[in-house]
Amino acid sequence: MRKRRLGRTELMVSEVGIGGLGIISNILPDRQAGVDTVRYALDRGMNYIDTARGYFDAESVIGLAIEGRRDEVILSSKSYLRSGALAYRDLETSLATLKVKKLDMFQVHHVQYKSELEQVMAPKGALEALETAKREGLIDHIGITSHHTRVLAEALETGRFDTVMFPFSPVEHEGFEEIYRAAKRFDVGIIAMKVLSSGRLTAVEEAIQFCLAHDIAMCVLGCTTREHVDRDIAAAEAFHELTEEQKRNLCSQGAGLAEGFCRRCRICEGLCPMKIPIADVFRCEDYLILNATYARNEYRALERRADDCLGCGQCEMVCPFKLPVRQGLQRAHERLNRGKFEDMAVNFLHKVKLYDLARKAYFSLGGKLPER
Ligand code: SF4
Ligand code: SF4
Repeated sequence: MRKRRLGRTELMVSEVGIGGLGIISNILPDRQAGVDTVRYALDRGMNYIDTARGYFDAESVIGLAIEGRRDEVILSSKSYLRSGALAYRDLETSLATLKVKKLDMFQVHHVQYKSELEQVMAPKGALEALETAKREGLIDHIGITSHHTRVLAEALETGRFDTVMFPFSPVEHEGFEEIYRAAKRFDVGIIAMKVLSSGRLTAVEEAIQFCLAHDIAMCVLGCTTREHVDRDIAAAEAFHELTEEQKRNLCSQGAGLAEGFCRRCRICEGLCPMKIPIADVFRCEDYLILNATYARNEYRALERRADDCLGCGQCEMVCPFKLPVRQGLQRAHERLNRGKFEDMAVNFLHKVKLYDLARKAYFSLGGKLPER
């Protein structure tokens, strides 16, 4: 696999890497299936694994997969927590769960709003704690992830982050230039995520090539099976430089494919009298395709939800993509608010240690993996 330099970390990363949310055991027949996918990806030359405290059992699956192979992997995890003490504790848990002494990278996860960035950057905030962890030798580098390009650009301008990860695809590329300028100034390593726009883009090769045609280090993809690994590697290996016109063509094809897709620009949220995190509601709905329990948990954790909508329509007046936001919120709420009994059953099965058995039965009776 071809490798690229991950900015000032000086790490050489494979052009495509493994995203931890794809190998969690509740979307696979069992935990071993995730272990096999990760090991297969390493065998095929992927050398970067991105995971998170919030990705169910991804860290323990990866911990099993990399046993005896630590030196083949550039390993990164991340935490949602903003206070220094809690983020540091999350890092310790990640190290223990992944069964490693050190991580190549730890990222501040999903920093969506300026107020969250302020918490991260404040004295005794997450960043200060991670800088301490870096001095102590628990991590080598610190990264930040978000869907909010303006917040990311502001974070990068502090010069305190080594890497940045954000959604980037032919469908979702607004704000790239702003992040790119800030990243280049401080030689920050750029990682693309949501390259297939949460499963909307089925033209995998074109999507990966679009990303790699930009001056980024790599794409992280949620590989669930060996077939996904093969497909992503084939796309990266077939990469050739694209002309500006080819990039523009891909963008306009992407725009067509993404009809009704919220680009998370958040222009509408500033006008919403109920302060509904509209882009986050749609993000949670997108997760349903990958993992319904994860999607619903994320949705329940939002401070305001779609059923708080007053129907005033202010959001639709400013949405540059002319999305029918009210209708979309109603649909998202209906889809995300289901399944309480299903979740209770899943939790019970976990508790009585019968979850893996039940999953196996589900698959042997014809249950299917979600499409990517
Ligand atoms: S609904 Fe429209 S304005 Fe609001 S975040 Fe999505 S794309 Fe942007
Ligand atoms: S229609 Fe609903 S989501 Fe849109 S601005 Fe009004 S209250 Fe907010």
